[in-house]
Amino acid sequence: MIKFLDLQKINTQYATELKKVASEVIDSGWYLLGERVNSFETNLAKYIGVQHAIGVANGLDALRLILKAYIEMGIMQEGDEVIVPANTYIATILAITDNRLKPILVEPDINTYNLDISLLEKHINPRTRAIMVVHLYGRVCWNEELEAIARKNNLKIIEDNAQAIGAIWNGRRSGSLGDAAGNSFYPGKNLGALGDSGAVTTNDDELSIMVRALANYGSTEKYVNNYQGLNSRLDEIQAAFLDVKLKYLDAENKRRREIAQYYCENIKHPDISLPHNLNYSLFTIHYSLNHVWHLFVIRHPDRKKLQNHLTEHGIQTLIHYPIPPHLQLAYKTLNTLSFPITGQIHNEVLSLPLSPVMTEEDVQQVINIVNAY
Ligand SMILES: *Cc1c(COP(=O)(O)O)cnc(C)c1O
Repeated sequence: MIKFLDLQKINTQYATELKKVASEVIDSGWYLLGERVNSFETNLAKYIGVQHAIGVANGLDALRLILKAYIEMGIMQEGDEVIVPANTYIATILAITDNRLKPILVEPDINTYNLDISLLEKHINPRTRAIMVVHLYGRVCWNEELEAIARKNNLKIIEDNAQAIGAIWNGRRSGSLGDAAGNSFYPGKNLGALGDSGAVTTNDDELSIMVRALANYGSTEKYVNNYQGLNSRLDEIQAAFLDVKLKYLDAENKRRREIAQYYCENIKHPDISLPHNLNYSLFTIHYSLNHVWHLFVIRHPDRKKLQNHLTEHGIQTLIHYPIPPHLQLAYKTLNTLSFPITGQIHNEVLSLPLSPVMTEEDVQQVINIVNAY
């Protein structure tokens, strides 16, 4: 069987180093917010190209804490609006509603699956405070128009960088493009810990101090609490693992890109829509847009049948995502809204196996079975 994502194989590549740092952390007697976290934060900030990286418990918390910090800083208040793509993973929306802010869902572009920036302006009103862009499936959602709209309307741009760590736009990494970014190191993400963890990245000094305090009980000094914070800290052991794996991230993303390119060139089926190739190649590191292929997502009008065919032939696939946030029971008040493009995406998408540990035979096998459908 070809697994969708073989996490064991991914982490076994680094087992010697991972076991070594795990032993060091165990022997150190220090398990939270210590030198391993400091080291990873420094290396992550340098990698992404920002002044500050703050390790937190998970990606959802990273996004939640950014908004919570803006509220504490007086930049946002309850009921303010945050624009967000309608087809994102629910965590993006949860970060907004958890802070009693209002998500304003906007349709994506059917070609990129990212927020349709041309639709933004008509959703902006005096309560709008931020645009939360999601670099979905590993493709950067950014352009000059977005920057100009945010500047003109005095809006923050927050990046949900959970799926795109390592991606580059015009020489700048995702996670450094906006005012702040939430990163996830969920085990299945491109940079995966061996458990949950996440980070906020930003160039904003004040925001970084606030996020750090809020993630640690609203405290900067032990037992002195200036804000009503959370407990959302990064474990030393996860930071140590992440420091090991960060070194290999670019090589792994390169391998993902090679597989995606091979899929794009060789999957030939009249009913299948491949990821849209922009006017310039997505595949060469010299180009300004550098997709990191967290997921390889195709569309088919009868997805279920195609998925069954692949399952019968030993190819594991997943759907990202079967139900859009506005149709979830968790968001009953949004259930009556209609987003046709989002609906089409959720009905038709299917994610093929793509991971840096797939062999050439695996990739060819997937192609053969898809093309034979
Ligand atoms: C994974 C993910 C998150 C949340 O990250 P966790 O670490 O699982 O909390 C947020 N947004 C998107 C788009 C994601 O894919």
